[in-house]
Amino acid sequence: MDSDFLIMAGPCAVESREQVLEVAKGVKELGATHLRGGAFKPRTSPNSFQGLGEEGLKYLNEAKKLTGLKIVTELMDMDQYDLFEKYDVDVIQIGSRNMQNFELLKKLAMKGSEKVVLIKRGISATKKEVLGAIEYLEKYGHKGEIMFCERGIRTFANGEYDRFTLDIGFIADLKKDSSFKYRVIVDPSHAAGRKDMVSDLTYAGVVAGADGVIIEVKPTEDYAPKCDADQAITLSNLKEILLRSKNFYKELH
Ligand code: PEP
Ligand code: MN
Repeated sequence: MDSDFLIMAGPCAVESREQVLEVAKGVKELGATHLRGGAFKPRTSPNSFQGLGEEGLKYLNEAKKLTGLKIVTELMDMDQYDLFEKYDVDVIQIGSRNMQNFELLKKLAMKGSEKVVLIKRGISATKKEVLGAIEYLEKYGHKGEIMFCERGIRTFANGEYDRFTLDIGFIADLKKDSSFKYRVIVDPSHAAGRKDMVSDLTYAGVVAGADGVIIEVKPTEDYAPKCDADQAITLSNLKEILLRSKNFYKELH
């Protein structure tokens, strides 16, 4: 059955109403379950585009109403939490840079929300540290599902041919670990950092046992995203990747 396979796709950042609605319609047609898109972006440089903030959440909410897709977007600070409620965000992403922001984890958990939290692996996080982050959410009262996302870690190869090294072995380990009861999502986009490697890394993650994918997409080939431009794939690339991924998933489940 491929019906449980989670397909999260969308832009790195919400940049305009047109961009997000076009991508939302496109990914919905290809069978996505979730629309991803950051409204608050963690950028290395303060001079880079920081996201549209509330306006971005508003467009995501409009896309949700239009397509029925669930919304995945990153929470960077508890100041943003009320807006996540207001715009009916379904999946609260905790980004790599905040996986060990323990005060953020505690305060989010203490809301006792029933929303899903998608926690992304810190760029050098060990298994023990990942389990600790999940435990913070549980111990402090989070009520909704917690999902974990492998998005690549920093190793000696970083930058040589990829942006981060996708840790396929970690996905395999978690899926074989009967005490780990959380769904695992693979993010090939941030690991690859380049669009020509997104397909291979997606297949590898799905074959290793991932329960879903999160992939960055742009509306058209010539669209230039303000954020993570080199890894954004087109809707036609996504179509092929999803067809093959669903087949791999079916074979394994
Ligand atoms: C993102 O999903 O766009 C993102 C910033 O992810 P990460 O926290 O994995 O870098
Ligand atoms: Mn991104």
